[in-house]
Amino acid sequence: MKPFEYLRARTTAEAVRASTGRPGAVFLGGGTNLVDLMKLGVATPDLLIDVSGLPLDQVADTADGGLRIGATVRNSDLAAHHAVRTRYPALSQALLSGASGQLRNTATTGGNLLQRTRCPYFQDTSKPCNKRVPGTGCPAREGAHRELAVLGHSTDCVATQPSDMAVALAALDAVVQLHGPDGERSVPVTDFHRLPGDTPERDTVIRPGELITEVLLPPAPDGAVSLYRKARDRASYAFALASVAEVVTVRGGRIQHAALAFGGLAHRPWRARAAEEILRGATVTDDTFTRAVDAELAAARPLRDNAFKVELARSLAVDALAALTAPA
Ligand SMILES: Cc1cc2nc3c(=O)[nH]c(=O)nc-3n(C[C@H](O)[C@H](O)[C@H](O)COP(=O)(O)OP(=O)(O)OC[C@H]3O[C@@H](n4cnc5c(N)ncnc54)[C@H](O)[C@@H]3O)c2cc1C
Ligand code: SF4
Repeated sequence: MKPFEYLRARTTAEAVRASTGRPGAVFLGGGTNLVDLMKLGVATPDLLIDVSGLPLDQVADTADGGLRIGATVRNSDLAAHHAVRTRYPALSQALLSGASGQLRNTATTGGNLLQRTRCPYFQDTSKPCNKRVPGTGCPAREGAHRELAVLGHSTDCVATQPSDMAVALAALDAVVQLHGPDGERSVPVTDFHRLPGDTPERDTVIRPGELITEVLLPPAPDGAVSLYRKARDRASYAFALASVAEVVTVRGGRIQHAALAFGGLAHRPWRARAAEEILRGATVTDDTFTRAVDAELAAARPLRDNAFKVELARSLAVDALAALTAPA
């Protein structure tokens, strides 16, 4: 591992100040992704600014009935939080479907959002990879891509965004709060992660030196039910091949609110706007669900070995809609 300096930040301002104008500085949350990448030689920071002890470790109600989640809240604490379990069950389920108990005890909200792709070429410094070293190529496109993207990929990168939590946050219309050298700003989670295009080295819209301080959840729509479903190669301790987060309200047999996001299919959580448009105002039938999900997945462009993901995502999403809208 390359030598590096270590600074334990005591305040948000101190963390931002230490990173300003220092391209080799990175924030350290729980370290469960960053330290692994440093050991592999994929990440080579010269300064680690440890933000895990910042006073951003609370989950609190907001005045409008939503929730404010500090960036250093641990994944296990967030999953177990009463307000999350009762008002935003999809978020709790997504968190619990990720990693292992030990990792969730260490991983933070900010770090989870910014964890990097699990594409095997990205993690192997002996291989070319446009995301790790821009301009070197994308061996995954013709190589091992069974677990990689079917939506929104480019000739330069076919990686997927690995966070389960981010998928639930996308369906819940969460907003990321950032604090950087130029002040504070808010970015909806749906706009936070990027499609790869010809700059796959940038996973998100975060700017140099910006710290995630919190994630805001708007109030859940009246009468909303939500869930997260994930398909993976093993029953636990595996990333999603495909996953879906759904938030739905039904009144008088008609769908009033529908928000769907897919995971494991794209370089970012894939908010299913085409499906939502068909679902909104429609009657609750299996035919409606299939039509809506098919309309969304019509945009899929599977690679040689991952067409199965489209069918997997279709079944997950249609079954989840049926489960969410079934009479109690
Ligand atoms: C074996 C294994 C299995 C896993 N399985 C899953 C899974 O199934 N689903 C899943 O979702 N995840 C899974 N994970 C990933 C795990 O969830 C992430 O490693 C973890 O959430 C990252 O959080 P962290 O706090 O440890 O981040 P770190 O490793 O500390 O940081 C990750 C990135 O975020 C940046 N960062 C951290 N905090 C901030 C902040 N506040 N502001 C700005 N930047 C910040 C860091 O600079 C770094 O770039 C798995 C991990 C392992 C090792
Ligand atoms: S898919 Fe993206 S991360 Fe994987 S090898 Fe290609 S450029 Fe690298």
